[in-house]
Amino acid sequence: MVAALNFPLNLPLAKSGVDRAAHLRLDQAELDALWLRAKILHFNGEKFLTDATGLRFLAPEKIEGGERYFLGIDSDSTPYFVLRSDELLGSEEEYRSLREAQFNELHIGLAVHSQSLSLWHKRHPKCSTCGSDTFPTLGGSVRKCASCETDHYPRTDPAIIVLTRDSDDRILLGRQQVWPEHRFSTFAGFVEPGESFEAAVIREVKEEANVSVHSIQYVGSQPWPFPASLMIAFSAIIEDPASAAPDGEEIVDIKWLDRDSIIAELKSETLLLPPPMSVARAMIDAWYKADGVDRPRLDSPESWR
Ligand SMILES: [Zn+2]
Repeated sequence: MVAALNFPLNLPLAKSGVDRAAHLRLDQAELDALWLRAKILHFNGEKFLTDATGLRFLAPEKIEGGERYFLGIDSDSTPYFVLRSDELLGSEEEYRSLREAQFNELHIGLAVHSQSLSLWHKRHPKCSTCGSDTFPTLGGSVRKCASCETDHYPRTDPAIIVLTRDSDDRILLGRQQVWPEHRFSTFAGFVEPGESFEAAVIREVKEEANVSVHSIQYVGSQPWPFPASLMIAFSAIIEDPASAAPDGEEIVDIKWLDRDSIIAELKSETLLLPPPMSVARAMIDAWYKADGVDRPRLDSPESWR
């Protein structure tokens, strides 16, 4: 029997510490007034300005240039903006990526919002309708075409990720060629146009591991701003475990694991788990603990990709 998983998961990047206060985006005079008393993050297209405590905020009077996007207001009525510009406003050592930094929940929420929004702005300088320049408006929640006046809204790309198990409560993981040696993870892929989440789960698992799944259950979601994904997480039961095989293209190897073998493989260094910030790792940890037996926590060396 498969153990019941304790969902929804509390996922590491799914944090919303401020009220996005969308109504304030409509009034430029109000946004200008908020800017003057705001805490301002700096994102240089890759990294955030930080200090020992997390994000380092800038004072508005010292800022020239760049683009400014409104993020919201906290419970003390402090407004937050992100400044996107390429130059460094501190030393190089003070810039850290989301993957490198240790942020508290408020800072994670601000940084994830800032990064998703900033990377979208950076990649959309031109109108997709007529090719003219666009400019940010409504606090950075929209880009408008200077010529045909089309409004362009930030993109979020949905991707499903699924923890697959058989009826003996073993999980099936796959390995991509480009990953570090021994890295295995859950199956995932972008939702295609015209496709439901459930259909994407069935298709991806069949494509990558040649198995059919049923009992698909939603388990949570988190933004993954590298650059613009939203991971929608599911669990599913494999009905034909004997058919499991890697597709040989995206997935080059697969691995069945139960709770004893996962510990043994981590110990013998034949298995490397996905990083703690990932949905995949959160799901693997949740499955591992789900049978209620007291075991050592899963420990795997940090590595990205
Ligand atoms: Zn246009």
